[in-house]
Amino acid sequence: LRAYSHALEDKSRSLERATAELREANEKLKSLDRMKDDFMSSVTHELRTPLTSIRALSELMRDDDHMDTAQRQQFLGIIVTEAERLSRLVNQVLDMAKIEAGHAEWHDTDVDLREVAEQAAGTMKESYRERGVALVLSLPAQVHAVRADADRLTQVVLNLLSNALKYAPREGGRVVLRLHEDPDRLTVEVEDNGPGIPLEQQAVAFEKFRQVAGDDHYRAGGTGLGLPISRQIVEHFGGSMWLRSTPGQGACFGFSLPRHAPTAADDSYNDEHQR
Ligand code: ADP
Repeated sequence: LRAYSHALEDKSRSLERATAELREANEKLKSLDRMKDDFMSSVTHELRTPLTSIRALSELMRDDDHMDTAQRQQFLGIIVTEAERLSRLVNQVLDMAKIEAGHAEWHDTDVDLREVAEQAAGTMKESYRERGVALVLSLPAQVHAVRADADRLTQVVLNLLSNALKYAPREGGRVVLRLHEDPDRLTVEVEDNGPGIPLEQQAVAFEKFRQVAGDDHYRAGGTGLGLPISRQIVEHFGGSMWLRSTPGQGACFGFSLPRHAPTAADDSYNDEHQR
C-alpha cells in the first residue's frame, strides 16, 4: 500500500509540474500575442499618418483649380516626402519581421570594419557636403576581422551616419566616425555635436517607433525603426549597441562586435602588425 501511495504522490507531483509548465507557456504565448497586437497597431498608425496627408493634399489639389504654383509645389513636396516615408516604413517593417522570425538571410564572411566604415562614409559624403556638416573619419591603419554580413553592417553604420547628419547643427556641424580595436572586440562609434537626447528618451531610443512625432526629424522622414533594426543586426552577430548623450552636447551611438579569432591565415597580419 505504501509503495502504491508513493507512486501516486510522484504522479501527482509530476502532474502539478506539467500543469505549472503549461500555465507558464500559456502566459508566454499570451504576452507574445499582446506584443504582436501592439506592434500591429503601431504599424497601422504609422502607415495611416502619411497616407492621410497624401490623400488630403491630393484631394485639395484635385478640387482647387485656382491653386497657385507655389502652393502646388509645396503640397507636392510634402506628398513626395510622405510617400518616401511610407515606402521606407514598409521596407523596414518587412525587414524587421524577417529578422525577428529568423527568416533573414545572412551572408557571413570575415569583414574588415575599416572597409565598412569607408564605404558608408563614401555613400554619405555628398549629403554631408550638401548640408555643410563635416564628416571626420578616425580609423586605425589595420584591424582584425569580425565575422558578420558586410552589407548588414554597412546598413547599421549608414543608419547612424544619417541620424547624426539629421541632428548635427547647420552651422559648425561635425560628426566623427571612429573605429577602434580591443583585444577581444572592435568598436564603431558615431558622434555628433547636435542637441543630444533627453534622458527619458535615452532609455527607450532602441524601442520600435520611439521618436518624437512632430519634431523636425520626424518631418524629415524618420520611421523610428532604424535603431531597433540596427541593434538586432548587431546582436545577431554577438555584439552590443548603445548610446551615450549629455543633453545639449550631442549624441554618440556605438556598437561592438567580437573580434574574429585569429586563424593561421592571420599570421601575415600579425607579422605586419608587429613590425
Ligand atoms: P528614425 O531616425 O527613422 O526616426 P531611429 O530608430 O533611427 O528612427 O531613431 C529613433 C529616434 O532616436 C529618432 O527619431 C530620434 O528621436 C532619436 N535619435 C536618433 N539618432 C539621434 C541623434 N544622433 N541625435 C538625437 N536624437 C537621435
